[in-house]
Amino acid sequence: MSKQQVKNNLPAWDLSDLYKGIDDPNINKDLETYRKTTLSFAKKYKGKLGSLSPDEALKMFKVKEKLAILGGRLGGFAYLNMSTQMKNSEAMRFYQNISEKLTDYAKPMVFFSLEFNALPEAKIKEWLKDKKVAFYKPYIKRIRKYKKYELSEPVEEILLEKSITSSEAWVRLYEEISSRLEYHVDGKTYNDAEISKLTLDADPKVRHAAGAEINRVYKQNSPLFTLVYNMIIKDKAIEDEKRGFAKPVSARNLAEDVPDKVVDALAQTVKANYKNLAHRFYKLKAKWLGVKKISYWDRNAPLPFSSDIHYEWNDAVKTVLNGYYNFSPKLGKIAQDFFDHPWIDVPPRDGKRSGAYCSGPLATKHPYLFLNFVGKQNDVLTLAHELGHGCHHQLRTKNGELNETSRMTTEEVASVFGEMLVFQDMLKNLDDDKDKLCLIASKVGDMLNTAVRQIAFHFFETRAHEERKSGELSEERLADIWQEEMGESLGEYVEMGDDTRYIWSMVGHFFFLPFYVYAYSFADCLVNSLYQVKMEGNVENFADKYLKLLSQTAIGEYEDILRPFNLNPNNPDFWQKGLNLISSYIDELERLDKKLKL
Ligand SMILES: [Zn+2]
Repeated sequence: MSKQQVKNNLPAWDLSDLYKGIDDPNINKDLETYRKTTLSFAKKYKGKLGSLSPDEALKMFKVKEKLAILGGRLGGFAYLNMSTQMKNSEAMRFYQNISEKLTDYAKPMVFFSLEFNALPEAKIKEWLKDKKVAFYKPYIKRIRKYKKYELSEPVEEILLEKSITSSEAWVRLYEEISSRLEYHVDGKTYNDAEISKLTLDADPKVRHAAGAEINRVYKQNSPLFTLVYNMIIKDKAIEDEKRGFAKPVSARNLAEDVPDKVVDALAQTVKANYKNLAHRFYKLKAKWLGVKKISYWDRNAPLPFSSDIHYEWNDAVKTVLNGYYNFSPKLGKIAQDFFDHPWIDVPPRDGKRSGAYCSGPLATKHPYLFLNFVGKQNDVLTLAHELGHGCHHQLRTKNGELNETSRMTTEEVASVFGEMLVFQDMLKNLDDDKDKLCLIASKVGDMLNTAVRQIAFHFFETRAHEERKSGELSEERLADIWQEEMGESLGEYVEMGDDTRYIWSMVGHFFFLPFYVYAYSFADCLVNSLYQVKMEGNVENFADKYLKLLSQTAIGEYEDILRPFNLNPNNPDFWQKGLNLISSYIDELERLDKKLKL
């Protein structure tokens, strides 16, 4: 077991597969190798890419691979090591130090993608004739897709240098201010994480006070956040225009490899389902909470009749593995590995970050799972989710370090699907109808937050970027758009009162990753469609085909990898199919509600 303390005998991870500790002598050795390799890479290849033979190109890709491994191992270790001990200043400093050095040492590599994209297509074709170079085709394609949008070298250089004082500076200002916000309720001071916990409290008074306070704090900061947002939108518009992107959303779509019209189809299909999904669900929720209309801050409230089911770690593991094995013994075996090795950090500890994640510093080696398990039903689903990411990673190790990338739209497939498998299993094992209703209601609430709410966000930012074209948007205008879009998606049973007008600026993605929010909905709907296909049972060997899909998510096109399931994301029916799954759960909730006479 690891050197870190083990609480309640719950497992902690052991990072020594990466380094033995922050004083491991290999760290400085690897940093030095990294520094020297980028220098020698630039010396050897800068200005010469066009003259490389396929054999020489192969050697160059191998060096890039080596750099990816060194950088991944160093940066990954520093991050993982820090996230379990955020109060340890040495661990924090170590992370900062490694990040800065890696950025600094990577500078000589800046020439690479520009020069690479200036290569004529014939040169790339010549290289790709060599089978060994062809292995890197997904990587090559990923760099080359920006070719059309690249500017001249001097312009690219100045954009890069000025980004520190333009777009990045605005994001930094937003992050610095928003991370320092303080909230006061009943004489007590709360930070972000603490106040959002209060919005999930069983007592409506506590939830509403917390919500109103969040809105007050964002209103107070609204002049600044409005200015920052206007600047970020304008900065992006200037660059988009120079690069030749058709719409504000287009640059993001290129990064995610999704055509503009597919995103439109997704957004419009979700909007057409607001009524059948969100409105119908919140009507039920209002009834269960005993009010005519719920407040915006009641959407995620626990149901008054929910019972707290507790899971021991071993039971959670058993439940999750059962779900995985029942679906596919092969997937079960891959999942099992995570419990046979010290790859999971399970319990919360003082100074440990909150939340959960799966992180694989190296694409070709096993990843680590980070949890804060306290035995709630939701913790079991979180384990199922992160384990899905873990298995997904393991299925892709053969693609190599360079070909792999995390594209949000497909990155969440295995995790959400894994969660679904375990959710269905848990549901089957419940006898009490009330427990069933609570479990489904909490799942539907989550699904709506992801599939529907993020699309309302998407419409908000689309309108903001469009309107910004004809001048700056005022605080009140942004608040109006927010209220309209959220109100439309949530429906008549959710009160969009004055305690929600200014909270649009809580959505950090609007600032640091414009147009990213739709990716959440995309991913969720994609998985739901896949899950529907599994339930219909018309695709032979579904499990094997599914595992194959997972192994190709970063190297294949959507259309190709979904074809074995007769799914096509260009078709609005594809999105409708995914949304129908949520709809069927709401049907079940209505049925249980009637039966239980709630
Ligand atoms: Zn995830």
